[in-house]
Amino acid sequence: MRISMVSEHASPLAALGGVDAGGQNVHVAALSAALAERGHSVTVYTRRDDPHLPERVPLCRGVDVVHVDAGPPAAVPKDDLLPFMPEFGRVLAEHWREDVPDVVHSHFWMSGVAALQAAARLGTARPPVAHTFHALGNVKRRHQGAEDTSPPERETLEPAVGRSADTVVATCSDEAFELIPLGVPSSRIAVVPCGVDTELFTPEGPAEERGARFRIMTVGRLVPRKGVGLTITALARLVAEGRDDIELTVIGGSRGPRDVLDDPDVQRLRAHARREGVEHLVSFRGQVPHAELAAALRSADAVVCAPWYEPFGIVPLEAMATGVPVIAAAVGGLIDTVVHGGTGLHVPPRDPDAIAAAIRTLRDDPELRADLARAGVARAHTRYSWAKVAADTERVYRALAAASPTGAAESRIAPLPRRAAARRATGGARA
Ligand code: UDP
Repeated sequence: MRISMVSEHASPLAALGGVDAGGQNVHVAALSAALAERGHSVTVYTRRDDPHLPERVPLCRGVDVVHVDAGPPAAVPKDDLLPFMPEFGRVLAEHWREDVPDVVHSHFWMSGVAALQAAARLGTARPPVAHTFHALGNVKRRHQGAEDTSPPERETLEPAVGRSADTVVATCSDEAFELIPLGVPSSRIAVVPCGVDTELFTPEGPAEERGARFRIMTVGRLVPRKGVGLTITALARLVAEGRDDIELTVIGGSRGPRDVLDDPDVQRLRAHARREGVEHLVSFRGQVPHAELAAALRSADAVVCAPWYEPFGIVPLEAMATGVPVIAAAVGGLIDTVVHGGTGLHVPPRDPDAIAAAIRTLRDDPELRADLARAGVARAHTRYSWAKVAADTERVYRALAAASPTGAAESRIAPLPRRAAARRATGGARA
């Protein structure tokens, strides 16, 4: 099949760990590569955020990345990108008119807006559109309230994308439940999880050096909703009990290891650790290249993933695949991926005491740790390899292509109002 992926802000070529670069980038890159392995031809359309990028860059055999000129060729926070979506959609339509894909798969609500508008421009030659949200504005608003920097148009456009896409590919069952009240019929929702790189994340292989302390680790963007502060507080609770044989390694953020202390999120979390009296037990590593992450994970006794909410969460799978027990807030995708007492321990969201208790349990029970680690490897490698995820995604695509051979459906996404098109980039985006 000829597959067009649309990922407006998340390029598969981007460095990971910064404010707007995480799971979606990994998802689009790995799914595209795994689909290409199955013989498909994939083009990923992403916004040009650097004037020096060539228009087309091969990612791997069978996958090309096309940089779309829409908005300034510079980094723009994703919450400020909506005004550039009409242009993005126009460019997509131009490409698709020359070479209609068999299926389009858009990622994140704004890509959905651009892809559906572009598809509508093709009239009866319209390709079917599958859409994955990666995050939902209504969930974000519930948790972040006034801190949510999404544009106000998201409230109406996101559900419209859900209702207009031919299929919504949810990444976990929790997301499927969230889609129903938005008006997405359950008959048009497929659940296919994200995957994990099972060649990179293995229990065997080099491990970073470490000391004798019990090492807990967090990995990912350092935006507040990822809950790293909760893990720092949990560490402080354990220290207060007299357990100072535990350390926390924090990986991720917008800077590399050399200028990690310039990262405002690291400054915020360090100040938190200082207030809690555990600064000496927390080390901030900054962004670690994805290829080096497995070695870092192998040096950990447990990985803590304590987000307030989580659309999917690839990091727990990466930890499981590497053979590290996971302490996971029981939210979103983590409910499906982490099995309580099987591959890790679930804790209620935003509960540092529960995180501390789970760390204590794992610290005191090496046998339990070994069991969880073994089961995590088996679960991640059998259920969540990208090869399996690509095969499941392909089934969704084939059903779509078979259901709309004439591509007659009209897009129900109205052209963006002028007000949206006139908004200009300001402020910061923090999903
Ligand atoms: N990541 C990385 N290096 C870092 C921080 C994060 O390679 O320094 C990767 C991490 O391994 C994972 C992705 O970024 O593959 C984060 O995805 P996840 O779904 O856990 O969170 P998101 O960022 O999408 O909220």
